[in-house]
Amino acid sequence: MATKHPAEIPLLGALRRGTVQRHLVTLPGAALADEPRPVTTITGEQPGPVLFVGSGVHGGEYPPIEAVIRLSTMLDSAELSGTVILMPVLNLPAFWSRTMFVCPIDNVNPNRVFPGDAHGSYSEQMTHALINEFVVHADAYLDLHGGDIPETLVHCTRSAAHGSPSPARTEPGSRPSSSISPRDP
Ligand SMILES: [Zn+2]
Repeated sequence: MATKHPAEIPLLGALRRGTVQRHLVTLPGAALADEPRPVTTITGEQPGPVLFVGSGVHGGEYPPIEAVIRLSTMLDSAELSGTVILMPVLNLPAFWSRTMFVCPIDNVNPNRVFPGDAHGSYSEQMTHALINEFVVHADAYLDLHGGDIPETLVHCTRSAAHGSPSPARTEPGSRPSSSISPRDP
């Protein structure tokens, strides 16, 4: 668990207890320089863990993007212990151009190049910055996916604990199984 409160996320500057702060963040990486991304932080009054919630690794997945935006208006810093960091859209080029699955600048699926490369293509720089500027400072990372432009949006939750060999999947009315959804690239 993060030992300091407020959490220290250098790219965001000083976070203040008991506040909701909205940031526009330029990620490091030559390819990313002209494209600030919105980030919201909710810093609780009391110390606690740091949770990073992101969506839009696939920029055409608008339902989870909307979910993260809504979450940014729902959490109450007065009742929160710890910090929640929300980035609704990582893959902005895909978001703006309504591009499915890949980043249109390099035609790469960002979900296939984690943990990225600071000197690589646009998607590699983008994922590298995500990991090294945000995820390394968090105690937990939720990466929301689903409902890309051609996809049917179905209720599905899957998770994998660190070190777990296979993700678990649950759907309404079904028991968790070890299979994973083939839909999300
Ligand atoms: Zn996705």
